[in-house]
Amino acid sequence: MEQIGHWMNGARVAGSGRTADVFNPATGEVQAQVALASKAEVDAAVARAAEAQPAWGATNPQRRARVLMEFVRLLNRDMDRLAEALSREHGKTLPDARGDVQRGLEVVEFCIGAPHLLKGEYTDGAGPGIDMYSMRQPLGVVAGITPFNFPAMIPMWKFAPAIACGNAFILKPSERDPSVPMMLAELMQEAGLPDGILQVVNGDKEAVDALLDNESVQAIGFVGSTPIAQYIYARGCANGKRVQCFGGAKNHMIVMPDADMDQAADALVGAGYGAAGERCMAISVAVPVGDETADRLIEKLVPRIEKLKIAPYTAGADVDYGPLVTGAAKERVLGLVESGIEQGAELVVDGRDFSLQGYENGFFVGPHLFDRVTPEMEIYRQEIFGPVLSTVRAGSYEEALGLAMDHDYGNGTAIFTRDGDTARDFAHRINIGMVGVNVPIPVPLAYHTFGGWKKSGFGDLNQHGPDSFRFYTRTKTVTARWPSGLKEGGEFHFKAME
Ligand code: NAD
Repeated sequence: MEQIGHWMNGARVAGSGRTADVFNPATGEVQAQVALASKAEVDAAVARAAEAQPAWGATNPQRRARVLMEFVRLLNRDMDRLAEALSREHGKTLPDARGDVQRGLEVVEFCIGAPHLLKGEYTDGAGPGIDMYSMRQPLGVVAGITPFNFPAMIPMWKFAPAIACGNAFILKPSERDPSVPMMLAELMQEAGLPDGILQVVNGDKEAVDALLDNESVQAIGFVGSTPIAQYIYARGCANGKRVQCFGGAKNHMIVMPDADMDQAADALVGAGYGAAGERCMAISVAVPVGDETADRLIEKLVPRIEKLKIAPYTAGADVDYGPLVTGAAKERVLGLVESGIEQGAELVVDGRDFSLQGYENGFFVGPHLFDRVTPEMEIYRQEIFGPVLSTVRAGSYEEALGLAMDHDYGNGTAIFTRDGDTARDFAHRINIGMVGVNVPIPVPLAYHTFGGWKKSGFGDLNQHGPDSFRFYTRTKTVTARWPSGLKEGGEFHFKAME
């Protein structure tokens, strides 16, 4: 059985204690075991990173950017190998796995602009004989804790800007699909990154707590479920660290009566069932406005959903989605489906009996479509993270807007309409971080920033884009005076610039 350890000081090392099973989600078999780092192992990784960081921080930003430039070349060279490893552990289709690598790669490309992005500000002649300038300096050792659902993209969203800014980075990836993060670290080394600047410690709560309590760790970036995001935010902040945590989601798509119903149905099927619904930007709630719109939408959705091809990633290029990541995830999703039925929602497409010959023990879940879901139901309140789309019928635009506004989560949302005035009003008033207008999954590109509101995001800066350079640096401002008269005597009052 393959044993996956850690990446420390530029080499793979074995773990020394507990392990967790890594499944093949298509067959349900255990395909590897991953080490779960102890506090001592995490502390050793941090200590080595702290030794290596000052030299890296002192390396000029252009040279640091060149390592990322080479890393991009290596990612492209190894794209197929990375995608295959990713699909094998996560279960998503190969095109989707390539997208996972690609959306991380694009953030690395953005970070190649580090020399420009790290330039400070300068005021010439801020006062008589006085200049003022600010610089962005690295924090030191920083850490990222990432989820299972984007095992390439999210680690890169974290470590690329952190390392470009001159920090050393400790990555604690998900223990469910640890292979790709290890491969990324190897490629960073091949690209020329000095040892110790990117350490990968595999693990669970023990490793996370060790990072949260280690005094050398200056900042923590987290992506995962909301309860863990809140826990990490609270404990990290209490320990005086800079912390940003991105949590779960319940993304609503409003369908106005004037929307192109074929376009809306196509968008909902892709955004609701793609990656088996295991995306924080998946649409999990359709909100048609008016009963007539709802009837037309459901009529378009049902045949599209029934045609979906659910199979392992090895079954061909036309697979729409694969298995969930674990048996526990499958049980949880099916349990929520039962609760929806019990609480009175109408199950229009029932995927409960789905089974695939030869893969009976895999974690596949058939697609489900609920109609007449109401806000008190568990399937509406909770993030399901599976191939289950809920329809909540709204009587008016204001009611639809209110539903999305009142939900605890605020990651993404979309409106489908032909009316620019409605779209503009929606984009302006909605209390959600990322908004699509006739675009179901509005993930911002690398040079913009990504982040949810309400219980989907904790902290005051977003991921990637310019915010990431702010998060991974601190500003120092220097006021410098080189006057001829300073020798003549000290000044004891607080100076204001005139
Ligand atoms: P998760 O919260 O279970 O795990 C995330 C990370 O936290 C993992 O590295 C895990 O090892 C660690 N962890 C788990 N339990 C912990 C505990 N008790 N104490 C300390 N650390 C712990 O999330 P997941 O199942 O891997 O990922 C799915 C979730 O991530 C969904 O809720 C999804 O919406 C969310 N997500 C959010 C975004 C975003 O940008 N907002 C992006 C992707 C995924």
